[in-house]
Amino acid sequence: MNEKLPFVCANCGAGIAVPPQGTMNRNHCPSCLYSLHVDHRIGDRLSVCRGIMEPVGIWVRDNGEWAILHRCRKCGIIRANRIAGDDNALALQILAMRPVSGFSTGAAGLSGAADFITVRGRNL
Ligand SMILES: [Zn+2]
Ligand SMILES: [Zn+2]
Repeated sequence: MNEKLPFVCANCGAGIAVPPQGTMNRNHCPSCLYSLHVDHRIGDRLSVCRGIMEPVGIWVRDNGEWAILHRCRKCGIIRANRIAGDDNALALQILAMRPVSGFSTGAAGLSGAADFITVRGRNL
């Protein structure tokens, strides 16, 4: 999949246009915030999973930047993705108020997400 091309959201069916200026990776739907598991590592598009990634929470970084935590419905992997400028503000607010205890992947999934966040934090 070429991220520069428009795609259709697998969850709500909204058409997603060419990424707006300043958005590095348009990897989730701006209206429902769902994503697809297409990356093995961020941006490489090498994953063969292709599962629907459900937004499960908001993570606020030390610098105040918000990231969406996505969990793949197929394989259970959890990823943190930067929010984009045109993301649905209301959907983000609702997500931010959801308790993180809603995770159903168990301790392994949570520690996996923590490892990933640590790695990403180091790269900032
Ligand atoms: Zn959508
Ligand atoms: Zn997956």
